Amino acid sequence: MDLRLTDIGVIRELFERHGFSFSKSLGQNFLINPSVCPKIAQMGGGNENVCALEIGTGVGVLTKELAKLCKRVVAVEIDKGLEPILAETLGDFGNVEIIFADVLKADLHRIFEEKFAGEEVVVCANLPYYITSPVIMKLLEERLPISSITVMVQKEAAERICAAPAERECGALSYAVRYYSEPRILFRVNRGSFMPSPNVDSAVIRLDVKRESPLRQDEEQAFFRVIRAGFSRRRKQLVNPLSDELKITKQQAAELLEKSKIKPSARAEELTMEQYFALARSVASEK
Ligand code: SAM
Repeated sequence: MDLRLTDIGVIRELFERHGFSFSKSLGQNFLINPSVCPKIAQMGGGNENVCALEIGTGVGVLTKELAKLCKRVVAVEIDKGLEPILAETLGDFGNVEIIFADVLKADLHRIFEEKFAGEEVVVCANLPYYITSPVIMKLLEERLPISSITVMVQKEAAERICAAPAERECGALSYAVRYYSEPRILFRVNRGSFMPSPNVDSAVIRLDVKRESPLRQDEEQAFFRVIRAGFSRRRKQLVNPLSDELKITKQQAAELLEKSKIKPSARAEELTMEQYFALARSVASEK
């Protein structure tokens, strides 16, 4: 049965029949704009040669579009109350499996081994906004074999995540995401596209995951340490948080910056990725 899952009447009827109601605390704003999910599935790289991991199915509106395009879809959904609804909305798709779990606690490596061994995997999701950054960082930091992550997030979060170094919105998260991937904003989605409608607009972003780490492990640790320290006091010259974090004198911190070809007056938000890489190498080589 091909239910129109973006139709408000269809959603209301499903909810009533299954005694389901929206949970605000789980970020349940479901998509009702019919053009958005096919676009996410397509621009997220869905095709018959790849598998998809989805986070947060809702009533299965995006899951269904992914199932039409991809070889297999595995979705992680926290709300077991959606189980009977999903059995009905996705029952016709033999290539979909739903795991009821909290994605932040789930053993994603195990899921990948059990469900996706040897397959190319893309992640597509309309993320619950209360856990946008932790979910993205978990997917990237765990170095799962993912080729891209295409997710809907709050518009302001999209701008922060995709900001290039030295842009106004750029912060520690922008550098961290850029360490692991090439981020870009695909398209914007207004608040009226959701039920219930949130107080903010959204945007879909795509992160193309890098195959190789740009740095060695010890340099990588230094990179994240320096970024964290620098952005904890972003208005200060980097030399100050750097000397505090590394427990060295300001003179030594200035020498590290000089060795990395960074001017001593630079602030955290002014550095390019390459300058942070150079600084991370210098810090790691001091040990
Ligand atoms: N994909 C659907 C859509 O576009 O209409 C639902 C998107 S809704 C913004 C977010 C979904 O994520 C909800 O179904 C919610 O129950 C689920 N969710 C919230 N927290 C979660 C968590 N920690 N782990 C897995 N799913 C979660």
